[in-house]
Amino acid sequence: MKKSNWVGFLPFYLLTVIGVIAMAMWGSKTTTTVAQNRPVQRCNTIVIDAGHGGIDGGATSCSGVLESKLNLDIALKLEAVMQLLGFDTRMIRTTDISIYTEGNTIASQKVSDLKERVRIANETPNAILISIHQNTFSDDKYSGAQVFYANTEQSRELAQLLQTNFNQDLCEGSNRKIKKADGVYLMQNVDCTGVLLECGFISNPQEEAKLRSEEYQKKLCCVIASTVSTFAGGENRG
Ligand SMILES: [Zn+2]
Repeated sequence: MKKSNWVGFLPFYLLTVIGVIAMAMWGSKTTTTVAQNRPVQRCNTIVIDAGHGGIDGGATSCSGVLESKLNLDIALKLEAVMQLLGFDTRMIRTTDISIYTEGNTIASQKVSDLKERVRIANETPNAILISIHQNTFSDDKYSGAQVFYANTEQSRELAQLLQTNFNQDLCEGSNRKIKKADGVYLMQNVDCTGVLLECGFISNPQEEAKLRSEEYQKKLCCVIASTVSTFAGGENRG
């Protein structure tokens, strides 16, 4: 974040702090059992993956916005909140780029890009990977955030906490359920705790408008950050 933007973010930070305290008090009741049997793991680094980018725009929204742009906007906000909460963060990308290191065709560059994302997550000690994506479907009636998880028990636990909070605090009335991220290269190849967030359906006009708005993006990031903080706090308590 540029220093010149700092003042504009202050109300957002204040709201976040209040929200995090409130959610931590509420969340601690629901995560006590989860935290009890988990090995001690300190100093989590939150690896934030803004999905797609550069040669790969991802899906296109119903108003013509690229998924890669929305993913990045949300990822940058999430970085700011996680840092505010005292977490180290590592961004897979901070601009509209692919991170491939080899390949002469778009297909091979996309493969290299995904391998790089896996490498960054796996080389980061005590990482929790949050991958940001947007959903799309041919029928525009579908809406709601949904959480997919990597192949570890901690990933499933974090996914369940996030999904519960999304359904309660972000997408009221949604009953979406977590799913294992079968067939998602990044999620299948990371060793760390990892979740992939389909933040909402950019094929649904109402949800797409929300996902493009600063306020909804901030609310979304508050829910993600406070949930991850509760989860990691549980880990740190051992
Ligand atoms: Zn995507």
